[in-house]
Amino acid sequence: MDAPAASTSTPVSVPAKTALAARPLPITGLTEEQLVVLFKKHKEPAFRATQLRQFVFGRGVESYEGVTNLSKALREKLKVEAPMYELEMASTSVGDDATKWLWKAADGALIESVQIRTPDRTTSCLSSQVGCAMGCVFCATGLSGFERHLKGHEIVEQFLQMRSKSGNPSTHIVYMGMGEPLHNYDEVLASIRMLNDPPPKGAGIGARKITISTVGIVPGIRKLADEKRQIELAVSLHAPDETTRVKLIPAARRYPIKEIMDAVQEYSEKARRIVTYEYVLLAGVNDHPEQAGELVALLQTHPCKVNLIPFNPVADSGFQRPSIDSQERFKNILDRAHIPTTIRFSKGKRVDAACGQLRRRVLALEPEVSVS
Ligand code: SAH
Ligand code: SF4
Repeated sequence: MDAPAASTSTPVSVPAKTALAARPLPITGLTEEQLVVLFKKHKEPAFRATQLRQFVFGRGVESYEGVTNLSKALREKLKVEAPMYELEMASTSVGDDATKWLWKAADGALIESVQIRTPDRTTSCLSSQVGCAMGCVFCATGLSGFERHLKGHEIVEQFLQMRSKSGNPSTHIVYMGMGEPLHNYDEVLASIRMLNDPPPKGAGIGARKITISTVGIVPGIRKLADEKRQIELAVSLHAPDETTRVKLIPAARRYPIKEIMDAVQEYSEKARRIVTYEYVLLAGVNDHPEQAGELVALLQTHPCKVNLIPFNPVADSGFQRPSIDSQERFKNILDRAHIPTTIRFSKGKRVDAACGQLRRRVLALEPEVSVS
């Protein structure tokens, strides 16, 4: 992995894990009703609960100190009974284009998020699980195994805290951090509601600015299609044939390509979005011109986009990134078939924060940006 040469890193000591004990939930982990009950207990009117959510989701305050309409005495009580945030920052690595954040959850689990800055947008790349159960052999998260699902509020907090701590109003969200979002469907959907709904209920990020990337969990794609939110969908395909795909994604055995594509078509129709297929380019494994031809044959049947992701190095995975020439050769075959195709260039390499490099350690990862 790249050394964080031109970045600044702020590691802090990470205490050993603790069991998830009964503990007060943070504001985003409470329902509106639960928050109202809390205010009533302190003889405050119900609208205070709405105001507090407005401060958190709308104004993006970093702590209770910023909630200026509540008395100091009440703020001190609420800090204990309904903390503003639950994730503790364990470290940050700041690069020119990206910042990587490592968070410690209440049980000590470590998760990572990345904020990626380009001239026209700031994207928050969020994790949905601690580790991942899909076992993709080219992905550091997959190789590290699965620990647990994240709660909806733990996902939302990654966004809220990155936004408030950086002072950068994040415009886009991608579920491309650690984990398989559709393996944790209910909590991911809960987080999407909070991110998508307008303040004071949520952060007001437009559905079309939120992308879920999935390895292709068919029931999840179909369920998402029925949510009637125009979330962008990206499907990690990585191979045009079943044999290669299953070698790369062991969990793909359960969902054949044909079934995935049928579900994608249903999604496209119901959500009225054009789906993107992601394809990690691995030298000598899935980057042959013949495989590009097979991909064309597969995808020509319906409108879609393709995002080619040159492999980001993962120690001990045994894979190599293809040369620029073979990346271009692969892309040209798709271009000639009029399939809109981009090659994703990694940003934030210096903070070691790219797709597939998230490892739950104090210094490691690297995000990306797509170009035509
Ligand atoms: N679990 C989801 C989302 C997280 S990974 C999914 O797999 O779609 C986001 C993207 O990064 C996926 O397309 C994934 O295949 C890709 N990726 C994983 N490891 C990578 C690596 N080492 N190099 C490049 N891309 C990688
Ligand atoms: Fe999980 Fe996605 Fe990594 Fe595969 S690529 S192991 S699905 S995070």
